[in-house]
Amino acid sequence: MTTKTVKTRFAPSPTGYLHLGNVRTALFNALLARRWGGLFLLRIEDTDRERSRPEYVEALLEDLRWLGLEWQEGPEVGGAHGPYAQSERAAIYADYYQRLESAGQAYPCFCTPAELALSRKAQRAASRPPRYARTCARLSEAQRSERLERGLQPTLRFRVPLQRTVEFADRVRGPQRFASDDIGDFVIRRADGTPQFFFANAVDDALMGITHVLRGEDHLANTSRQLLLLEALGLPAPEYGHLALIVGADGGPLSKREGDLSLRELRAAGYLPEALLNYLARLGHVYERDEWLEPAELAAGFSPDHLGRAPARYDEAQLLHWQSEAVRRMDLDRLWDWMGAVVHEHVSPEGRDDFIATVRPNIRFPADAAFWVERLFGAELTPSEEGRAVIAAAGSVFFVHALAAYAQHGAALQPLVEDLKRRTGLKGKHLFMPLRAALTGETHGPELARVIDLMAPERVRHRLRAAVQAG
Ligand code: GLU
Repeated sequence: MTTKTVKTRFAPSPTGYLHLGNVRTALFNALLARRWGGLFLLRIEDTDRERSRPEYVEALLEDLRWLGLEWQEGPEVGGAHGPYAQSERAAIYADYYQRLESAGQAYPCFCTPAELALSRKAQRAASRPPRYARTCARLSEAQRSERLERGLQPTLRFRVPLQRTVEFADRVRGPQRFASDDIGDFVIRRADGTPQFFFANAVDDALMGITHVLRGEDHLANTSRQLLLLEALGLPAPEYGHLALIVGADGGPLSKREGDLSLRELRAAGYLPEALLNYLARLGHVYERDEWLEPAELAAGFSPDHLGRAPARYDEAQLLHWQSEAVRRMDLDRLWDWMGAVVHEHVSPEGRDDFIATVRPNIRFPADAAFWVERLFGAELTPSEEGRAVIAAAGSVFFVHALAAYAQHGAALQPLVEDLKRRTGLKGKHLFMPLRAALTGETHGPELARVIDLMAPERVRHRLRAAVQAG
């Protein structure tokens, strides 16, 4: 017995940058293929000539790779079912239009947009749902030729079989039924010769051997059309699963502020691919384990049975949580690169590991690392408001004692603190907080023992003296 290799795909239209929503679709398909030992294919759906742009194709290939979503078949990788951009598949589509036309399952339509609009209006006025009135389905051969001779550019319409019920089992949403009479003959080739989405998408899935399609719920209503087309062409249909959309915290559509962000923007802000993977894989999909999962574990634990039907709510706090986890785990070289130029300017390569060990628990983004660089190594320190308040409350005498204790014990925090305790009679937070505020200007932050160790003695003294003045 031979079993068909599982093959999933991501089929973006290059009309913009990848956003969290379509990246999640790509991820689920990639995880499914990996989970079931199959292949993940990438296809570029660039039939919209006006809106598709080569730079968006470039960008999406780069973004997917950055995220670690490698495709085994598709642009730049090749494969046996190319080309993988729909704009290069016109000859293939022509063959399938031909088959439908010769079987009487498609016909040229000469109706103008104005005529179609008028007909829709009349149907609505008669309280009927607007459907193509099949005007051109009834044209004789002679009438067709006459129109073609006049130079009219027809669309090609699929003749939807009447009185059929289309049924399919959606992997996510369960059994689905559609009445073919509700569909109306639809365009499969536009007047400019380019294929309509339903057609190219369905034909390509079949020809490329796609077995499973996870895609946005907004495509659910297209599925019945696609199944009818595939049936008419005698092509196999994939199994479909329609993913619940991602919504904002208030249940409404995602706004820019609430996660409608491109992968480029997230990457520029310093988000790490592993953080996004851990977050997105859980957005509308449940894992048995809540903790951090490596890419292979994300795939191993993925199941279409764990995809939710309810809209998935974007939650920035969750995303930030996974970002912190990713920072905690990242290896030193990558973390160092990621921290960026401001950090590299102020921290020597020899000081790198200590700096990282000191600030890692307190950073989520390169901007945080830059912040702590300035706090720890900046020539002049302007304490935060809370920092100033703590320094003032401790008073000058405290810092005179601190200077003396530091002179005696240096950066060894334990003896320094013991000494300071004896000198001031203070302990715990009353002792640590003013020290922290004087040294870093902040009332929270990296471990004090590391901070004091990392700072040049001259800087420690300088800052304690400044606190004497301010206190
Ligand atoms: N190009 C379509 C889109 O980006 C693909 C839909 C599908 O996955 O079938 O929405």
